[in-house]
Amino acid sequence: MRRAIYPGSFDPVTLGHLDIIKRASAIFDELIVCVSVNSAKTGGLFSPEERVALIRQVTEELPNVKVDCSRELVAEYAKSHRARVLVKGLRAVSDYEAEIQMAMVNAKLYPKLDTVFLYTRPKYAYLSSTVVKELARYGADLSDFVPRQIIEQVRAKVAASGQDYL
Ligand code: ADP
Repeated sequence: MRRAIYPGSFDPVTLGHLDIIKRASAIFDELIVCVSVNSAKTGGLFSPEERVALIRQVTEELPNVKVDCSRELVAEYAKSHRARVLVKGLRAVSDYEAEIQMAMVNAKLYPKLDTVFLYTRPKYAYLSSTVVKELARYGADLSDFVPRQIIEQVRAKVAASGQDYL
C-alpha cells in the first residue's frame, strides 16, 4: 500500500491545503495529513488538536485521508508510520528553496523517504494560513480562502484571540 504523509502547520487549513489533500489522496492509497508542531513556530491561533478537528471536518468525504498530529521530526513520524512519501505543496519559487532543503534533510534522516511536490492551483497561489488570519482580523469575507464548514470557527477564534497568536 502506498501511504503518503502531508505535513504542515495548518493553522488553519485553507482551500489551498484542501486542494493538495484532494489531489494527493487521488494519487496515493492512503494520505495522512499530519499537523506538525514546529518548534520554530510557537503559539499559533488554533491548538494542534483543534487544527486536527478542523481538517477532519473538511476531509470527512475522503475515505483514504487520515488526520493526525505529531511533535516529532517528520522523518521519524514517517518511519514509524511506514510511509515513504512526503507530499508538499509549492506555491512560488520562494517556497522552493526551503522545501528542497527540507526534502534533502528528511532524506538524510530517513533515506527511504522521498518528497513529492504538487504545484498549487494558480487560484490558490497567494493563499496561506497567515493571509487567512490577517483577513479574519479585519472581518473580511473568508469564503474564497477557507472551506465553508470552518469559516465561522475561524472568525470566532480570531475574535476571541485578539492579537495573541501573532
Ligand atoms: P502555511 O502556513 O504557509 O499555509 P503550512 O505549513 O500550513 O503553510 O503548509 C503545509 C504545506 O502546504 C506546505 O507544503 C505548503 O507549501 C503547502 N501549502 C500551503 N498553502 C498552499 C497553497 N495555497 N497551495 C499549495 N500548497 C500550499
